[in-house]
Amino acid sequence: MSKKNEEKVVVITGASSGLGAATARHLAANGAIVVLAARRADRIQALAEELGGDEKAIAVETDVTDLQQVQRLVDTAVERYGRVDVMINNAGLMQQSPLEACKVDEWDNMIDVNIKGVLYGIAAVLPQMKKQKSGHIINVSSVAGHKVTPSGSVYCATKHAVRAISEGLRSEVKPYNMRTTIISPGAVDTELPSHITHEQSHAGINEYYQQVAIAPESFARAVAFAMEQPEDVDINEILFRPTKQE
Ligand code: NDP
Repeated sequence: MSKKNEEKVVVITGASSGLGAATARHLAANGAIVVLAARRADRIQALAEELGGDEKAIAVETDVTDLQQVQRLVDTAVERYGRVDVMINNAGLMQQSPLEACKVDEWDNMIDVNIKGVLYGIAAVLPQMKKQKSGHIINVSSVAGHKVTPSGSVYCATKHAVRAISEGLRSEVKPYNMRTTIISPGAVDTELPSHITHEQSHAGINEYYQQVAIAPESFARAVAFAMEQPEDVDINEILFRPTKQE
C-alpha cells in the first residue's frame, strides 16, 4: 500500500540552507521525519530542534564528497528510524566563470559535490532500499541541466550529469519497486550565487536573481508532489522556473 508523505523518513542533503532547509520545513510541517545533512552542523542542529527534535528530525554533519560520511548519514537514519523512504540528493555548488578564467579548483569542487555527491548518496542508500523493496531517490538537477549558458559550462555539465545518472538509475531499479525523480528548478532565491568568485559572473547572476528568483517553497512543493503520488506512479522529472525567467 502507498505510504502518505507524513509516514515517510526522508534524508535531505544540503539541508543547512536554501532548497534543502525549505523542503525539510515543508515536509516536517506535514508530518514527515527528516534527517538533515550538511557540513554546517550548527545550522542543521538548530533546524532539527526547530522541527521538533529527535522524534521528528535529526542532524547528521555530512560532507557529501566523502563516501564514508554519506554512508554514516544513511546508517544513522536507519538505526534511528528503521528505514529510509526518500533520499533527496540536493547538496550543490554553483561557481560560474568563463572557462578561460581556468578556475580549476572550482571545477573540481562542483564535480565533487554536484556529481560525486549525488553518486555517493545513491551508493549509500541503494542497498537499504533494495532490502526494503521500496524507496524513492530524488536528485536535484536544474534548468542548467537542460541547456548550457556562457560562464556556466562546468555547472551545467554537472547538472546534465545528474540527469543522465538519474535516468540510468530509473531504468535499473524497477525490480526493487523504487522510484526516481529529477527536480530541475530555475532561479530560486537561496545562497547558491554567493559562492561565485568570478566578479563579473557574480554581479550578473546577482542582478538576474534579484529580478526573477522565486521562493524556495516552490521547490519544496515540487518535492512533496513527487513524493505523494501513489506507489505505482513515478514522477520522472519536474522542470519548473519563475514565470519571468526565459
Ligand atoms: P544553497 O547554497 O542555499 O544550499 C546548498 C546546500 O548544499 C547547503 O546546504 C550546503 O551546506 C550544501 N553543500 C554544499 N557543499 C556540500 C558538501 N560538500 N557536503 C554537504 N553539503 C554541501 O543553494 P540551493 O539551496 O539553491 O541549492 C540546492 C540545490 O539546488 C543545488 O544542487 C543547486 O545546484 C540546485 N539548484 C538551485 C537553484 C537555485 O536557483 N537556487 C536552481 C537550480 C538548481 P553546507 O555548506 O552547510 O555544507
